[in-house]
Amino acid sequence: MTFAATVLTLYPEMFPGPLGLSLAGRALGEGRWSLDAVNIRDFATDKHRSVDDTPAGGGAGMVLRADVVARAIDHVADDRPVLAMTPRGAPLTQARVRSLAAGPGAVILCGRFEGFDERLFEARAIEEVAIGDYVLSGGEMGALVLLDACVRLLPGVMGAASSGDEESFESGLLEYPHYTRPYEWEGRTIPEVLRSGDHAKIAAWRKQRAEDDTRLRRPDLWERHSGARVGRPLARGED
Ligand code: SAH
Repeated sequence: MTFAATVLTLYPEMFPGPLGLSLAGRALGEGRWSLDAVNIRDFATDKHRSVDDTPAGGGAGMVLRADVVARAIDHVADDRPVLAMTPRGAPLTQARVRSLAAGPGAVILCGRFEGFDERLFEARAIEEVAIGDYVLSGGEMGALVLLDACVRLLPGVMGAASSGDEESFESGLLEYPHYTRPYEWEGRTIPEVLRSGDHAKIAAWRKQRAEDDTRLRRPDLWERHSGARVGRPLARGED
């Protein structure tokens, strides 16, 4: 089964864009995934081919029309999940990326202007997704981010070098730091343990660094990782 991505956008020329290069591009060429960019404007019905209108209640900007966008969705819909890019959505996580990558693909809806008429989300089964707590000018970059994260997990894309299991977020932690040659650079050396050849010691050092760095850099992740232990008072005998 090939992971099939359909992107609904006002700018189909933005695809595959960076996903046509490197790992994702090679995988696309090999048919490990497919990408179809569909212009939402093709589903406009008036003579001006309008896709947006002014916001009800007033205010700046324009809003994407529910009727036009719904026609586009209905045209491409099958058994794949439909995701809409919006800062109001659930933050994208590695866990969600992994579950999407294990499925048949995704239909990704890219907003522009002020976003979508809210009735769209009431009338269709659409998962609202945000790629971070900042505002982009359009959903296309978000779609590229989401697809890049999914495609690298598809079978055969990363090769045998890595299953991705040790990467940041896979275990709820940031990954440990990496080093490579030269051994000495600007007076700085590589941690001795990494040159010891002692695999158990190296694994222990990496685990410790992953935990320490996560605690310092991402207390939010650390709290979730250590879960109940942090959230509740310690029971007797626990430390
Ligand atoms: N008025 C909206 C922002 C619209 S930005 C608000 O304040 O919530 C225009 C489009 O860019 C959105 O419809 C969405 O598709 C995309 N976009 C912007 N920021 C995003 C983010 N953090 N995650 C995902 N998509 C985003």
